[in-house]
Amino acid sequence: MGGDVRYADGVPAPMGVDRPVRTLAPRLANAFEALGVRTVGDLLRHYPRRYADPGRLTDIAGLQLDEKVQIVAEVRSASGVLHARSTGRPRVEAQITDGRSVLHLTFFAKHEGVAINRSRQMRPGRRGLFSGKVGSFNGRAQLANPDVVWFDDDEVEPGATPHVDERPVPLYPASAAIDSARIRELVGLALAPLREGDVPDPVPASVREQRGLGPLLVALRQIHEPDSEADFLAAAQRLRYEEAYVLQAELARRRARAAAEPATARPARPGGLLEAFDARLPFTLTAGQQEVGREIADELARSEPMQRLLQGEVGSGKTVVALRAMLQVVDAGGQAALLAPTEVLAAQHARSLRALLGDLAEGGMLGSNDVATRLTLLTGAVTGAARREAMLDAASGAAGIVVGTHALLEKKVQFADLGLVVVDEQHRFGVEQRDALRAKAAAAPHLLAMTATPIPRTVAMTVFGDLETSVLRELPAGRAGITTFVVPADRPGWLDRTWRRVREEVDRGGRAYVVCPRITADEEDAKDGGAREDGAELVDWEEAGAPTIGGPAPAPPRRPLRAVEEVAAELTARSELAGVPVGVLHGRLGPEDKERALADFAAGRTPVLVSTTVVEVGVDVPEATVMVILDADRFGVSQLHQLRGRVGRGAAPGVCLLVSGAPPGSPGDARLGVVAGSLDGFELAAFDLEQRREGDVLGASQSGTASSLRLLRVARDGDVIERARHDARATVAADPELERHPALRAAIEHLLAGEREEFLERA
Ligand code: ADP
Ligand code: MG
Repeated sequence: MGGDVRYADGVPAPMGVDRPVRTLAPRLANAFEALGVRTVGDLLRHYPRRYADPGRLTDIAGLQLDEKVQIVAEVRSASGVLHARSTGRPRVEAQITDGRSVLHLTFFAKHEGVAINRSRQMRPGRRGLFSGKVGSFNGRAQLANPDVVWFDDDEVEPGATPHVDERPVPLYPASAAIDSARIRELVGLALAPLREGDVPDPVPASVREQRGLGPLLVALRQIHEPDSEADFLAAAQRLRYEEAYVLQAELARRRARAAAEPATARPARPGGLLEAFDARLPFTLTAGQQEVGREIADELARSEPMQRLLQGEVGSGKTVVALRAMLQVVDAGGQAALLAPTEVLAAQHARSLRALLGDLAEGGMLGSNDVATRLTLLTGAVTGAARREAMLDAASGAAGIVVGTHALLEKKVQFADLGLVVVDEQHRFGVEQRDALRAKAAAAPHLLAMTATPIPRTVAMTVFGDLETSVLRELPAGRAGITTFVVPADRPGWLDRTWRRVREEVDRGGRAYVVCPRITADEEDAKDGGAREDGAELVDWEEAGAPTIGGPAPAPPRRPLRAVEEVAAELTARSELAGVPVGVLHGRLGPEDKERALADFAAGRTPVLVSTTVVEVGVDVPEATVMVILDADRFGVSQLHQLRGRVGRGAAPGVCLLVSGAPPGSPGDARLGVVAGSLDGFELAAFDLEQRREGDVLGASQSGTASSLRLLRVARDGDVIERARHDARATVAADPELERHPALRAAIEHLLAGEREEFLERA
């Protein structure tokens, strides 16, 4: 390729995929930048969101009022330029048809010239794609100022039958500053001069051959300029594989690097703490706990660092498994750190570990058990002398177990011999944070990550592909269980019964959570992880799906959402709850107020707690028996399941009441039916995943990799991921630093750069 493209100042610009888009379309450079497109390479990865099929007319009679639609239709007739009597504003009226029904269009224009132009374009018989919202005017459906993409070019002789191109028309994610048609044109310009050698392919030729995949450039042409549906489907398949392969190559590399660092072997020691602990355990470990326990014990005994993710529902007994691993390490002369996402959870962990250990946690005290160790809590809330002592315990090795939050990541915190790091609710930590903690040990410490969010296997492979996973599927016996009901919000009788039910539980010594999506009535949705703007009902189906033909996205209805403060006041005033103290908890309270609200609830001083979803993770009050979720249809399936897991944790059965205004048969209502019908977190997570983007399911900082996936959908593409993982591991095994695969290395760099950007944006 000739290097004949120059910047305005005469300096030659790079060519091929590195060519800056502003040398292609200087005036649109800013508009493209806003879409994240800087180079030709970026432009070629700006895939169409969907395709319109010019040969398939949309059924106009089936359109709904207020629906956002994209309609393939033919012009039937159009007026000349008309003028509003009062303002003189020019407009054009037109009719489009699917051959049976007719839809009216009105184009308002600021200038006469624009209107004239519009009127000329609307030649009868001409076919195009009309996008807009179905409104009503004088009792008939109409689109006002729709966007139009024509399927032919504009140069047809007036009067001649326009030739309609039957090829799919790509529709791009666009913006106000640049429309889909313009993007399509520039993609065409960018693609035209490229040859295979200009487009480095991250997938090595040998792998492509083995999997029967074509070269990258062919796929890019097929996805942007398909001749048929088969073209873009084949292209999407190949590009999807590539995304999976690049991601899996990076995960395989991380895994290989971590495995290459030597760790200290921490084999079990007969007659030690672990044996003493097991001997006094008041219950028998479940079969799952025993099996996972053996897996972990074996890995700790090796000099290769364990890298394991332990999944299990709330209450499945992960903490005991983790504690037994910690004790094995302490027996072997090392220390263990347990990292929790919040101060409340860290303190709760410290309390429950102490309770489980009894005098085995009183090491160094007069008359203590001679195998005992010391358990130290170190969070931001531990200050002054207590903090100095905790740090000394960690640094001297006097504390075998250190429980804490992010505070453990600070440079000042030192360990004598850190052998195991346990991370609770792992998906809330970034890889960087994990590494910071790992760096505190002389040799690589073993890592056990735990999560109560059930993660389908394909997601685990995608997001935690560098970790091995274990799952605790069964709950310990003797749980009373949870019953779930959907309560229609518009039936006062049902609501009254809900609050009476709460009253009964409180009178019996139980506690009730009441969860709302917002904090105050006058704000937007709660910011502290409350019902998300992108709650499943609001999922952008165009974003969530693969490229598809046709199909309008329904507009979700909006109602005012219930808010913590409003509901707390209302409950206090209700006769059913007369005399019952009601507490509130949400993310805007200071840490002390939060602690107090939880403590008052746990102790029964305020047996009803109205809160946002801050109670979602890990809060453990065994007396809690009722979970009422208001506007439940606005929460995601997994989130509802997590919330429900807060009750029925003790001997008394739990009840979960999902209060919803979603009309019967609506998607929101259907979701609640699914939650009410299953207690299996994995089943629910898989269902959720089918409806959402990965990032939403996983939350927080690990979604970076997921959101840089464009075509790959882990819910659907498990087999692709599986194949790509197999291939990528083989590639990395043969060439650990990918020296022979510069294009793959570059693709990984690009992926990581995106991930870092996301990370920084959120920080
Ligand atoms: P998780 O951390 O997975 O949410 P925990 O480890 O906190 O679950 O366990 C929940 C409760 O169940 C704790 O009170 C724990 O002591 C208890 N428990 C754990 N394993 C068993 C078991 N095998 N049998 C009976 N109770 C158990
Ligand atoms: Mg736990």
